[in-house]
Amino acid sequence: MRVSLPHMGNIYIPFKAMFERLKIDFVIPPVSNQRTLSLGARYSPEGLCIPFKMTLGNLIEAAELGADTMLMPGGYGICRLGYYTKIQEQILRDLGYNVEIIQLGVSEHKFLGILNLIKRVSNNASLLKIISAFRFGLAKLNALDMIERLVQKARPVEMIKGTANKLYTEAVDAIHRADDYATLKNVKKDYASRINQITRNDHARPLIVGITGEFYVLLEPFSSFDVERELGKLGVEVRRTVFTSEWTKFSFFLNPLGINEKNRIHRAALPYLKRDVGGDGWESVGEKVLHAKEYDGIVHLAPFTCMPEIIAQNIMPSTRERIPVLTILCDEQIAKPGILTRLEAFVDLLERKRRASTSNLQRVNT
Ligand code: SF4
Repeated sequence: MRVSLPHMGNIYIPFKAMFERLKIDFVIPPVSNQRTLSLGARYSPEGLCIPFKMTLGNLIEAAELGADTMLMPGGYGICRLGYYTKIQEQILRDLGYNVEIIQLGVSEHKFLGILNLIKRVSNNASLLKIISAFRFGLAKLNALDMIERLVQKARPVEMIKGTANKLYTEAVDAIHRADDYATLKNVKKDYASRINQITRNDHARPLIVGITGEFYVLLEPFSSFDVERELGKLGVEVRRTVFTSEWTKFSFFLNPLGINEKNRIHRAALPYLKRDVGGDGWESVGEKVLHAKEYDGIVHLAPFTCMPEIIAQNIMPSTRERIPVLTILCDEQIAKPGILTRLEAFVDLLERKRRASTSNLQRVNT
């Protein structure tokens, strides 16, 4: 059995670590790129969203490398994600690949779901071994997200542009290669200190922009034109609440105990949207309401044809809480240069807004 799964940011690193410890042959498809998207778009039904197309492209590339068992996230919610597995398996078979796609039903079965799935692909490894491998994968996931948070803060204020990104790439690679806890701890400490030592412009007051929207495009940079890095280049600090390590902590361990991190966001959205509309639409509205006073602007990432985010996009302009929102539709038909121009114009608008409110404040004080 040769197992693989589609990309979503750095998620392949903890999976690889976990599967290596269980002696499962794990195939990593090429990092998502233009070919992945072209393949996915060519074989997908036309109206489907970019997560479907990108993950299909990843699965085809994994099958080309010999993977025969694919893991694919699924869900039981309102959005069509729950149907992806079957359709993608059919498409791969029609293309001549004899593969099985197993749906990661973590939404329904939480931690037990992932344990059962690992048990199945590891040829019934003992529970002790599985939990130990899972813990190591989780440690890597936490390390990756911790480093990413530091990089998000350093990017907009670094004196030599590109330093944080370079260290980030090195850190991801080092975390990937670390094969025991001691090495992982040292790598984490070393890169955290190197990122914290980046020479910064102490006078800079970067604009704060929240990134919200659909889960997949938030976490897979290629699908969303790498907006976080691009905003960093423009001197903007990005804030994102969605991280895979947080999601894992809540979905697997805290949600079953009744602790729901999203309650606060849902409460904030309630005056405008009374119920879950599938995907992350409810959260997108809530994030805007919650952070309107805290951020200078919000970039809303929405896959083209994604019903939950279309609902959110249409509700956002009518909330009482005012903050500029730039919605970016992610799709293979949209080119990056156009997105860069829109980001520059958005940042320009936020800067002017901040200047205007600072001079109003000064006038009031004099
Ligand atoms: S939430 Fe939207 S983009 Fe995500 S899988 Fe569902 S329909 Fe597609």
